[in-house]
Amino acid sequence: MHEFPRDELVDWIDPSLVPDGVRVGFTSRAGGTSAGDHASLNLGFHVDDVPHDVSANRDLVQREVGAELTWMVQVHGNTVAHASAARTGRRGYLGVGEADAVIVESGESAAVMVADCVPLIVVAADGSRAAAVHVGRAGYDLGIAHAVHDELGDDAIAFLGPSICGQCYEVGEELAREVDERWPGTAVTTRWGTPGLAIAGGLERQLRGRGVRTHRSSICTYESKRHYSHRRATHEGRKTGRFIGLVQIK
Ligand SMILES: [Zn+2]
Repeated sequence: MHEFPRDELVDWIDPSLVPDGVRVGFTSRAGGTSAGDHASLNLGFHVDDVPHDVSANRDLVQREVGAELTWMVQVHGNTVAHASAARTGRRGYLGVGEADAVIVESGESAAVMVADCVPLIVVAADGSRAAAVHVGRAGYDLGIAHAVHDELGDDAIAFLGPSICGQCYEVGEELAREVDERWPGTAVTTRWGTPGLAIAGGLERQLRGRGVRTHRSSICTYESKRHYSHRRATHEGRKTGRFIGLVQIK
């Protein structure tokens, strides 16, 4: 577990951990223009925020990155798309349509939006290719990390950004049992003494089982006021925004 760095707009991963020419970072709630429940750096258009504010936030982040990001319409599946196939959408941003992973190569950058799910960035050790991956319970269960690893090749490094921890991610007993049968060790007991799932820990085991080196954030989105949490917002009867994991290959 790592205390990932905290910066103004993008928390960039220590460059010494990332192959040359590649940058990996995670945003938070900080530094944007959205108000109310979405304050302030919400990057999702689909969560009932003011579109103009979301555009301003995306533009801020893209300026910080120094490149256009490729975005996905995330659907909790295991489709792997390629940034080379991205098209400019009606709001003016590059997108690959419905997918939960997007592969980037030289000159490309991509983002994965989250608010409790794991924002996973996988980078080929030679820095030639990388992926931004959305790993919720469904994607984890479907083994999207394996699909991405199949595309990127054996020697890879993974960065797991802030996500909800097993202590806070309560699920029904039957679901916990089903997932744990497929991926042993995923079922846990929450802080409330109820069945839960520890997705990030399980994802780390999936990746390490393939020989992928991993770096995992110690931040739980449910507990961190600095991050959006869909589950926490639901418990509070609020809306919430989305932060991103991003990867750039220069
Ligand atoms: Zn937690």
